[in-house]
Amino acid sequence: MALITKKIKGTEDVLPRQSYRWQFVENIMREESRAYGFREMRTPVFEHTELFARGVGQTTDVVQKEMYTFDTKGGESVTLRPEGTAGAARAVLEHALENEGLPIKASYFVSCYRYEKPQAGRLREFHQFGIEEYGTQSPVADAEIICLAQSVLDRLGLSDVHLELNSIGCPECRAKYNQALRNYFSQYKEQLCPTCLTRLEKNPMRLLDCKSPEDHKIAEGAPKITDYICEECKEHFAEVKKYLDAAGVEYTVNPTIVRGLDYYTKTVFEFVTDCIGAQGTVCGGGRYDGLIEELGGKHMPSLGFAMGLERILLVMDAKGIEIPQPEPCALYIATMGDAAKQKAFSLLRQIRECGLTAETDVVGRGLRAQMKYADKIGAKYSLVLGDNEIAENKAKVKNMESGEQTELALDETFAEKFSVLTLTASKGFEI
Ligand code: ATP
Ligand code: MG
Repeated sequence: MALITKKIKGTEDVLPRQSYRWQFVENIMREESRAYGFREMRTPVFEHTELFARGVGQTTDVVQKEMYTFDTKGGESVTLRPEGTAGAARAVLEHALENEGLPIKASYFVSCYRYEKPQAGRLREFHQFGIEEYGTQSPVADAEIICLAQSVLDRLGLSDVHLELNSIGCPECRAKYNQALRNYFSQYKEQLCPTCLTRLEKNPMRLLDCKSPEDHKIAEGAPKITDYICEECKEHFAEVKKYLDAAGVEYTVNPTIVRGLDYYTKTVFEFVTDCIGAQGTVCGGGRYDGLIEELGGKHMPSLGFAMGLERILLVMDAKGIEIPQPEPCALYIATMGDAAKQKAFSLLRQIRECGLTAETDVVGRGLRAQMKYADKIGAKYSLVLGDNEIAENKAKVKNMESGEQTELALDETFAEKFSVLTLTASKGFEI
């Protein structure tokens, strides 16, 4: 039979045998977010197109080239979210979360959609873990979210993914810097790629972010933001570094880091690695003090970051980091006959209520095939239930590895006694 279709180019499936890897990474992100006082937020996968046009920025590649935008049957233009911040900021404004006190702290897991050329580490549907903080201009907050990203990477065994840090100043210092960049890049007009030529007028800082090797080379000699930022921004940046130093977080100041989105101000940062090829940025973030105003709210300085989950998993693979497998099935109950099947059902319920994984035959296999299946799923213990066991109300639980058997009563104490038996088994991580 021919399949009617296959998955869309640039999308990926996470299969049952792979999902524990995602869950492991996500669990660590959830735990670290909680430790820093962030609570999860969930926003819709699509929003009105203008939210991203304004919130991400008209001059960005994301808005100009990468968005999945379509008209609904009602004639509205909607867009699949290309990133998580704009939706989070919209929700903060819509629900007036500032009334619950500042700062507003949220974390998120989102799928994102960008029409890009699919390659390793670059997909059309990808996933991000992100952090959002609204209503603080303190450099302590900048340092704190960077520490949070670092803690996540440390716990994933990725401590050597490198932090690159910069300040791109406020709109005032940036105006002077943009002029300096225009003057510099104008000398190279003949060599610049067509996209950069349009960037030159509208947003010259974006030229520093160009992926074309020729433009990248020209960008190396460009004026540095560090020479243009005002006293206040300089002071803010110095403080961020001071707190990072205090926390022992290592970084390199890289004046060419500008970030791809329009709304960034002051602190910008990336965590970068060279072990997965060209798409080596696993996390990007910074401050976006003007975003909330851009979306129609009052001035509310904000900041955040987003980590690409696919890239994190690629780096873990490249480094050979082993992700612990979840605990396998604790008990497989093989059954012979109808009475046994029914009894199994009540026992399984007890076992599962204790938080253990338990399975039985749902296919209608014979005893031998059931035991083969128990072996295949790596069940730690098995139990054969037949008419004899039912009649005597007891059965032997078998340790599948050692072959050791323990007799247990098939009454309401069963699950508790079985739990005690399994306590000696090694613990994997819990989903
Ligand atoms: P890049 O320069 O690689 O295009 P970006 O600046 O567009 O990245 P952000 O918008 O800052 O990326 O998104 C944050 C993170 O999300 C990136 O650091 C990366 O890990 C991940 N990411 C971005 N685009 C993709 C994609 N198309 N496929 C997979 N992951 C992505
Ligand atoms: Mg991009």
